Parts: sequence; C-alpha cells; structure tokens
Amino acid sequence: QLYNQLIELRGNIRVFCRVRPLFGKEVEEEEEDVTRFPEEDEITVLASDGSYSRAKTYEFDKVFQPDSSQTAVFEEVAPLIASVLDGYNFCIFAYGQTGSGKTHTMEGPREDPGVNTRAIAELFRLAEERGEDYEIIVSASVLEIYNEQLGDLLVRDNSKKLEAKLAKDGSVHVPGLTAMKVETPQDIVKVMEVASKNRAVSATNMNEHSSRSHAMLSVSVTCRNRISKQEHRGKLHLVDLAGSERVGKSEATGARLKEAQSINKSLSSLGDVIQALSAKKGHVPFRNSKLTYVLQDSLGGHSKVLMFVQASPAGSNTSETRCSLDFAARAR
Ligand code: ADP
Ligand code: MG
Repeated sequence: QLYNQLIELRGNIRVFCRVRPLFGKEVEEEEEDVTRFPEEDEITVLASDGSYSRAKTYEFDKVFQPDSSQTAVFEEVAPLIASVLDGYNFCIFAYGQTGSGKTHTMEGPREDPGVNTRAIAELFRLAEERGEDYEIIVSASVLEIYNEQLGDLLVRDNSKKLEAKLAKDGSVHVPGLTAMKVETPQDIVKVMEVASKNRAVSATNMNEHSSRSHAMLSVSVTCRNRISKQEHRGKLHLVDLAGSERVGKSEATGARLKEAQSINKSLSSLGDVIQALSAKKGHVPFRNSKLTYVLQDSLGGHSKVLMFVQASPAGSNTSETRCSLDFAARAR
C-alpha cells in the first residue's frame, strides 16, 4: 500500500515551462531570442549570442511557447482541479526571474485572466456539474511572505505578525489570517484586488516589493453532499513566488542583502522539498523556510504540485533562464 502511495506521489508533481514573448523594448533593442523548441514539450536554450555552442535542452511535462494563450495554458491545468473537490490539496507555483511572466500566468490582465481566476471558475463549474445534491463553500485568504515573515494581504494594516501553526492532525493554520467568502467566481477577482491594493499601500515601490516577496492566494473548498452530509475539504494554493534572480555581490548590502538571503532560503527550500517528495525520500525538510512550513499539509501525501517555470527568451537573460530551468529540472 505504501508503495502505491509513493508511486502516486511521483505522479502528483508536474512541471510546466512557459516562455513569454520578447517585449517591445527587447524587440527594439534587437535582443537575440535564445529559445528553441525542437520537439513538443522540449526547450533548448542557446548561448546568449544565439549560437548553439552551449545549447542545453530540457524536457518538461508541458512546454508553452510564447504564442500560447491563457486559455491554452489553463486547458492543461483544468484536469488537475477536480481533486480539490474530493478533498485533496493542490499547490500551483510560478517560479522565475522578475519579468519572466509569473504574474501574467497566475493573475493575468483583467481582460485575459490567468490561472487564479480560471481555477476558481472551474471549481464552481465542476461543483455545478455534480448536481444539486452538492454544494460548495469557498473562502479565500492572501498571505504575503516577505523576509521570512507572514503578512495578511486582506487587511490594510498588515504589520501584525502572523505565525503558522501545525495542528496534531498535520494540518497547518495561520491564526488571525483573514478569510473572505467566495460565492461566485467573480468574487475572487475582488479578493485579488483588495490584496494588491493592500500590497501597494505597504510598499514604497510596488514593483520591487512584489518581486521580493511571495504572494499566496489560498482557497479553502468544502464540498458537501446535502443528502448524505458527507463532506470533503480541500485547499488550492496559488503562489506567485518572489523573483528567482541572483543578486550581484556589490548590489547586496543592508536591507537588500537580507531580502536576497530570505528569497534564496525559501526558494531553495521549496526546491529541496519538492525534490525530496519526488525522490520519495523519507525526510522532507519542511521546516527550513516559512514558505515550505506554511505549505507542509499541501505538499506531501496525496497533494498535487504544479510548478510553472517561467522564462524570458531574451539573450540578455540567458543565464537566469538556465538557472530557472535547471531548478525546475531538478524538481522533476
Ligand atoms: P513577473 O511577474 O515574473 O515579474 P510579469 O508577469 O509581470 O512578470 O511579466 C512581465 C511583462 O511581460 C508584463 O508586461 C507582462 O504583461 C508581459 N508578459 C508576460 N508573459 C506574457 C505572455 N505569455 N504573453 C504576453 N505578455 C506577457
Ligand atoms: Mg510579478
């Protein structure tokens, strides 16, 4: 039985790679496009000058090319959503350097939303499909992790320190964290708006701040059968991670150094945890960072994990792109 559980676990980690198009500015500056797609679900990263001299090819569960639409991306995510209604936990991460498209994939522009909004809509659609005997109760909270501290993005003043607590049954709770009721798929858009307003209030430079903290939209779902009263509780975590770029030694002093160390610690812990899970190691080092600690009831066991590794096609980003793809290849 244990063997079966472990086999299942390996199947529960997926890595999707998404490459964004070159921006206007990059096109103007005639940046080299260093990404190639030799086969389906393969990506080759060339040298920064566009030569094949140090080309490296990676394979992922899915590779989305720059012209892939939000709809096409979500089509590959949708089949994984149903398990949340059956009481499983599911984490979706966006990993990559700042500017690689993490927020585009997760949140997306209002007129062309990303995974977050579509995933909630899919939950409601699936619940409806199950018929009138079922009801779902959905609530959402938004947690920020900055410098290894947890903040509530659904309150204006998020200076109150929060701590995650591990219950005896292995579940994780953050006492004091605000949860908003989500009664229609559109409500999640409001939740995200409140969160981004509060995030902007606390930051002097919103863009810099958002690239140096993790933002986690967590959706709790209770699916109840009105007749049998049987219910399943699942959680869906949608995580826009801090930028994975390495910080230059000269740049990193004082506050910036602390931020860089916190990000490095949490991203490498996340990598270690996913690797330990996929390699079926007995010991999973959840305690090494706040990010993995908060998510420990949603990463092991029967949970599902989907990692979007985001990449820029620009020649000037080659080394960061390689680092990101190497990270993701290890997770798989
Ligand atoms: P990150 O959150 O990783 O810092 P963003 O999601 O903000 O990156 O993306 C950086 C820029 O690239 C944004 O202007 C965004 O609209 C654009 N972008 C990212 N991914 C895509 C894509 N797949 N298609 C079109 N534009 C994209
Ligand atoms: Mg972003």
